[in-house]
Order: sequence, then structure tokens, then C-alpha cells
Amino acid sequence: MADLLKGKPVADAMKAELIKKVEMLQAKGLAPKLGIIRVGERPDDLFYEGGAKKTCAALGMDSEVFEYPENIGQEAFEAAVIKVGQMKGVHGILMFSPLPKHLNEKKIRTLIPVEKDVDCLTTGGAAKIFTDDPTGFPPCTPTACMDMLRHFDIPIKGKKCVVVGRSLVVGKPLAMLLLREHGTVTICHSRTENLPEVCQNADILIAAVGKAKMIKGNFVKPGQIVIDVGINPDPANPGKYCGDVDFAEVEPVVQKISPVPAGVGSVTTWVLCKQTIMACEMQNA
Ligand code: NDP
Repeated sequence: MADLLKGKPVADAMKAELIKKVEMLQAKGLAPKLGIIRVGERPDDLFYEGGAKKTCAALGMDSEVFEYPENIGQEAFEAAVIKVGQMKGVHGILMFSPLPKHLNEKKIRTLIPVEKDVDCLTTGGAAKIFTDDPTGFPPCTPTACMDMLRHFDIPIKGKKCVVVGRSLVVGKPLAMLLLREHGTVTICHSRTENLPEVCQNADILIAAVGKAKMIKGNFVKPGQIVIDVGINPDPANPGKYCGDVDFAEVEPVVQKISPVPAGVGSVTTWVLCKQTIMACEMQNA
């Protein structure tokens, strides 16, 4: 039976540390604040927003939602994003994506100040990650994966790390973060040949595919660490979620595995707050 890498102990440890940081900032007269920009009312966005607000409150930090109607025009939305970006009291910005199709998201992303880009939505933010600039904030999910590995003392240096998925939000930045920690990184995608074999060769296997239970028993071997980033509707259990890893097949084989739910997903909003607190510290250094 594999050890379960649950998100809660990681979040709990982070919480204790972040509360102290918020108190230290407050003692200096600073109130770290997350600004959340949302267009429309997509259920996924509302769910994440609720979690983010709750996490901010648990840390004693502020959050404010800037909400716009689904049919807002490009010009009006650009002006709104610029305004939020200029607010001195807002230190970190999360903007839900994708935006409605009539909006030029690429252009709008450029309006978020890089120093407030706590979820790596801007090209400037991504450049910082790819150039190992410590003032950059990686997207929250890859950071959560790294925080999980660190919390559970899983060595990365020199280890074979296989990341399945090459999105800008998870796979690519995660590969850069693993590389920063001296992992030997392989990035896989939909055209990778012999995927099960490549995955079996990993010491640390991270699945960020977006396909329910795609990583099967024949993708893994004993001794491996498996981190499952996926959040998918579970085809076998309507209304429930499952990961990209077929837990029933993989868990009996590997050494450690993060479950879905209660794994990586339960760490991401804490990372969002952590990075907002860091942004507040940097903006007032
Ligand atoms: P994307 O759809 O943007 O990217 C999926 C990646 O998986 C692509 O690079 C794609 O390859 C690759 N892929 C798809 N099918 C296969 C296949 N059969 N074999 C190998 N590779 C494949 O997804 P995201 O990166 O945004 O998200 C990945 C998962 O993580 C999703 O389940 C999502 O819900 C979850 N997620 C979880 C979060 C959390 O907080 N836990 C936050 C964000 C996402 P190609 O590039 O060739 O198309």
C-alpha cells in the first residue's frame, strides 16, 4: 500500500507560517490583499473564488472580488483591469481564465502588473520563471506540487522527473521548477511515443493531462512517487471528481501517491495567498 501524499498537512504547515507573516506585515501597517477579477459567473470560477476568499480570511488577509458582466466590452474591461492593477492596496491579482471569447485575453493579460501577477498570467511573469528570476511567481498549481514534494521530503536533485502535460499553466512551468531543483526532467504530451514506458522510467511521475484515470497500472513501477494534478469529472461516479491517475490500479504498485480529491488541489489557494503575501513584502521592501 502506498503512502498517501495528502494536501491538508501541507496546507496546515503553510497556514501557520503565513499567519505569522501576515501579522508581521500588519505590525508594519501593511494589509496584504488579493484582488480577484471575474467576468461572468462560471461555476468553476465561483467555486475557486469561494475557496480563495475563505483561505484569505483564515490567514487574516484581505480579498476583494472585481466582478464584471459576461457581455462587458473590450475597452471597458481593459480600463477596469488597469484600474485594479493600479490600486495600491491590492498586492496580488488573480484573473479567471479563459475570458469570454469576444474579449482579447492576450492583450488583457498584458495589463496586469508583473509584480502583482501571482498566478503567472503575463508573459513577463512566465519569463521570470523560465529565467529563474526569484521575483517571479509561478502558477499556483505547479508551485503547490513543489510544496508537496518539499513538505514530504521527497528528493528531486538528480532524480528522473516525468511530467505528463505541457500546458503553460501546469506542465511547462512545473518542468522549469523541477529543473531549478536539479531534477532530470522529461516533458510528455499527446504525441509522446511509448508513454507508459517513459512514465515507468520516472522516479517522480507527475500527471497533468486532463484525462480521467489515463495513467494506468502499466505506466508505473514499485518505488515511484506519483503526483496527480488532474481534476476531472469521474465517469464512474457522476457528481464526483477523479484524477488523471487510475488510483485503483496505480496505488498498490507505487511508493507514494497524491490522492484526488484531497491532494494537490487542496494546496493551490494557500499558494495563491502565499504568493500575494510575498508580493506585498516585495512591493514594500
Ligand atoms: P491542458 O488541457 O491545457 O493540457 C493537457 C496536456 O496534456 C497537454 O499538454 C496535452 O498534450 C497533454 N495530453 C493530453 N492527452 C494526452 C495523452 N493522451 N497522452 C499524453 N499527454 C496528453 O490541461 P491543464 O494543464 O490546464 O490541466 C491538466 C489537468 O490538471 C486537468 O485535469 C486540470 O483540471 C487539472 N488542473 C488542476 C489544478 C489544481 O489545482 N489541482 C489547476 C489547474 C489544472 P498536447 O500539448 O500535445 O495537446
